[in-house]
Amino acid sequence: MPERVGVVGLGIMGFPMARNLLRAGFAVSVTNRTIARAEPLRADGATVCATPKEVASQSDLVISMVTTSSDVEAVTFGDDGIADGAHPGLLAVDMSTISPDVAKDVARRAAERGFRTLDAPVSGGEIGAIEARLTIMIGGDDGDVERAMPVFRALGKTIVHMGPHGAGQATKLANQIAVVLNNLGVSEALVFAAAQGLDLAKTREVIASGAGGSWAMANYAPKILSGDFSPGFMVDLQQKDLRLALDAAYATKTSLPGTALTHTLYTALQQAGGGREGNHSLIKAIEKLSGVEARAKKTSG
Ligand code: NAP
Repeated sequence: MPERVGVVGLGIMGFPMARNLLRAGFAVSVTNRTIARAEPLRADGATVCATPKEVASQSDLVISMVTTSSDVEAVTFGDDGIADGAHPGLLAVDMSTISPDVAKDVARRAAERGFRTLDAPVSGGEIGAIEARLTIMIGGDDGDVERAMPVFRALGKTIVHMGPHGAGQATKLANQIAVVLNNLGVSEALVFAAAQGLDLAKTREVIASGAGGSWAMANYAPKILSGDFSPGFMVDLQQKDLRLALDAAYATKTSLPGTALTHTLYTALQQAGGGREGNHSLIKAIEKLSGVEARAKKTSG
């Protein structure tokens, strides 16, 4: 019989994930701080609960999908949190992107309270959540990962157990480093091409098909050229993740010059009021430094 699954946090990611769990046939309980966001799931068959405690008390496996490390601590160990509704056999799976150290600490505190945890952050964005095509990077014990697999399979396509508690979060941060540096590469290539007077759409196409190609060149560059800076993934959340990566790197004296540079370029965008734009708006910082804009020419009709 499928496990009873709970979801705490029904934002851009958590909402479609809960819906996919319902479609996969799980009995699903949900809650959200702004409870009105949970209501549409009731019609899909979810039980809407008032608190994470209530969700945990009627679930075998409870997913948290909130924002920061302190939000995960609050929904897990705060008043009416998951720990207050915990029972023997409860598995709490945090899928938010948070600090690897906090993930380890959550695992230790949960063990003291008699329940188990996994860290299982994701990549693939809102579209990956909607289409159940997320990549899931997992930290924790083998038996718990095996137990959670049917739930993960309802949410994602690439599901990898990376190691002990914290390893999922550390992998996600490595992913974020690669994302922003690819983004920086796209930004500089397009600004350079604009300054050279090249046809930007053709330039993008040529680069995308060769060694300079990347997910960012395929997906972000067309949005940049058309002037569409709506998120996908917001600058503010990207900054949260880079801060986590830089803090973790600092703790091990790991030098990440590109990540540090990109973080401070994003800070300039936040300062200019762009924190809620998509993370591909990084190019705006490079454009400002160079005095050149990289947008495809509008054909006059
Ligand atoms: P979001 O849309 O802002 O949703 C966050 C959810 O968490 C909201 O439902 C919010 O409740 C709830 N929440 C936040 N703090 C809380 C607290 N202290 N107590 C109770 N509830 C709280 O964010 P998202 O885009 O879904 O992202 C969720 C996590 O996934 C983040 O860690 C993010 O970095 C990661 N992620 C996001 C993406 C993406 O493309 N969006 C991709 C991969 C990973 P309210 O509704 O009341 O605000």
